Amino acid sequence: MKKNLFGTILLLISIFCFDSIADAATRSRAEYEKTGRVIWEVNTKQKIVAITFDDGPHPVFTPQILEILAKHDAKATFFVTGLKAGTYPDLLKREVREGHEIANHTFHHFHGNIASSKLSSELIETDKMIKQVTGLTPKLYRPVGGYYSDVIINTALQNGKTVILWSWDQDSRDWTEPPANQMYRYIKKGIKPGNIILFHDWHGSELTQSCSTVKALDKILDYLDENGYKSVTVSELLYHSTQFIPEAFEIYPLKKEKTSHIDIMY
Ligand SMILES: [Zn+2]
Repeated sequence: MKKNLFGTILLLISIFCFDSIADAATRSRAEYEKTGRVIWEVNTKQKIVAITFDDGPHPVFTPQILEILAKHDAKATFFVTGLKAGTYPDLLKREVREGHEIANHTFHHFHGNIASSKLSSELIETDKMIKQVTGLTPKLYRPVGGYYSDVIINTALQNGKTVILWSWDQDSRDWTEPPANQMYRYIKKGIKPGNIILFHDWHGSELTQSCSTVKALDKILDYLDENGYKSVTVSELLYHSTQFIPEAFEIYPLKKEKTSHIDIMY
């Protein structure tokens, strides 16, 4: 009997250990989210959302987007690459001047798995470029393509960044150039307080100077205005969060290197 009990305990231990190894990959959204340092969306009762634009600034489409935002008195967050920020510094300055937030999206738009030292240098170089142009150092970082892992998140935290993703039902997939009406209907359907909405300002046809994001944005902002919603920067959205956001960074013990994937973007 004792022998059987001992065997059962050994079996349970081995199952537990196997599971521990099997689960050693990147943590779940819930685990990351409870730290308040990786954000998909925000809990708030206020009718506020954060519209975000990745990959710019773009010489044609970013000014068009800024015009529409100004028309609606809406604020947005631009996750820029260091390379584009340095190429179009006047647009970056304009974004800041018009009350928008600038955030870090790496220097070279490095996609997928990335070593900690490489990501650190991408973040630091982008911060330097943004600081040089605007005098500001961004607090927020969005991993390229939504790829994240313990290494990526720890490196971001060590560099003083909060990791910002987006509401899963608020990915416009605008880079696939869907019809503007289709994008509008999709975003409208999912709107709720605390959403983080994903757009890109680096796509579209320069030949025709047309971009589905620009076409859909005006209608989306009309809808927000008519329904009492306000578009604010991500930092302002975080400020209104009912969730506790800790001061001290929680660094994850490194386990197995594996990235999670939310969506693929260029
Ligand atoms: Zn991107």
